[in-house]
Amino acid sequence: MTDTFPAILVSRGDDRQQKVARVRLSRKDLMEGDVTVRVEATTVNYKDGLAITGKGPVVRHWPMVPGIDLAGTVAESGSPRFRAGDRVLLNGFGVGETHWGAYAQYARLKSDWLIPLPKGFSPLEAMAVGTAGYTAMLAVMALERHGLKPAAGPAIVTGAAGGVGSIALSLLAKSGWHAIASTGRAAEREFLRGLGAAEVIERAELAAPGRPLGKERWAAGIDSVGSHTLANLLAQTKYGGAIAACGLAQGADLPATVMPFILRGVSLLGIDSVMAARDLRMEAWRRLDSLLDRDRLKSITAVAGFGDIVRIAGDIVEGKIRGRVAIDMTRLD
Ligand code: NDP
Repeated sequence: MTDTFPAILVSRGDDRQQKVARVRLSRKDLMEGDVTVRVEATTVNYKDGLAITGKGPVVRHWPMVPGIDLAGTVAESGSPRFRAGDRVLLNGFGVGETHWGAYAQYARLKSDWLIPLPKGFSPLEAMAVGTAGYTAMLAVMALERHGLKPAAGPAIVTGAAGGVGSIALSLLAKSGWHAIASTGRAAEREFLRGLGAAEVIERAELAAPGRPLGKERWAAGIDSVGSHTLANLLAQTKYGGAIAACGLAQGADLPATVMPFILRGVSLLGIDSVMAARDLRMEAWRRLDSLLDRDRLKSITAVAGFGDIVRIAGDIVEGKIRGRVAIDMTRLD
């Protein structure tokens, strides 16, 4: 292990203004944990964008090395579960929020947070999936647990050109659903059709305040947007259907009524990736391994280096990123 290594550090001065700097850290700087991982790949999720830009209260320990996802190789382990040389994967568990995360060449972590890197994924492919894709898989699994199948009717995906949305769309289409993509980016219609969208609708159709109940249009949905969009999704869900809610790109509010729940038996399924139990995350990655077409994953992923992270963080918060970005941590310039 080299003496010092590069990292991105987010800090706050007495004036509470947030600063982002590229620094060099040494092993003794790292936070406590029983496994030290050499980070080979990471990604930039919406949450990482909020952490770096300071536009959302993601960072809860200062200073912070952000980055909620990583894949890499164990450099040192005090845990019987992992040995030096093992390839591992981390998604969430407060890493990059309360514990120093992925945007450094090394991360010291708790072994309970790590799972073996699934054999079917390289570190960079696993990060092309990242928390966004793993959350999309959790949402599909929640709809399935609810008993929903493609025969029940269409499934809608909001924020479809984003990270969660584009992988959710691919997974639903691959599972045989008639998938409807909702997007604010008309230019991405063909991209979304290429991912398997049977229909593409305009985001504005769902973004404004709507009626408590509308025409029944879909049996299932995966929403990464929240606010009026989620309320409208619920109001237009078929009898007995369900919407999996995982995001807040439009807003954290939910200006809805109980009508869809009490008159149509509609369900709202909450999706949390951060603290999801180990068995559930292992199952999600097994399903991703079998369902996700690697060529399609490649087609929605841009690969960048460590030096691009801060710029990409700004872009993702402004809704400018299409699909996913994987960061190759061997490109450290
Ligand atoms: P992205 O930025 O990649 O995607 C979000 C998409 O939402 C955008 O691409 C855009 O899609 C749409 N969007 C953006 N702004 C608005 C707006 N004002 N109104 C309506 N739609 C909008 O982010 P991710 O896919 O990484 O994350 C999506 C959401 O899911 C975030 O809120 C994130 O915090 C949350 N999340 C939650 C997780 C959990 O555990 N519950 C885990 C991972 C993410 P388009 O251009 O197609 O309209």
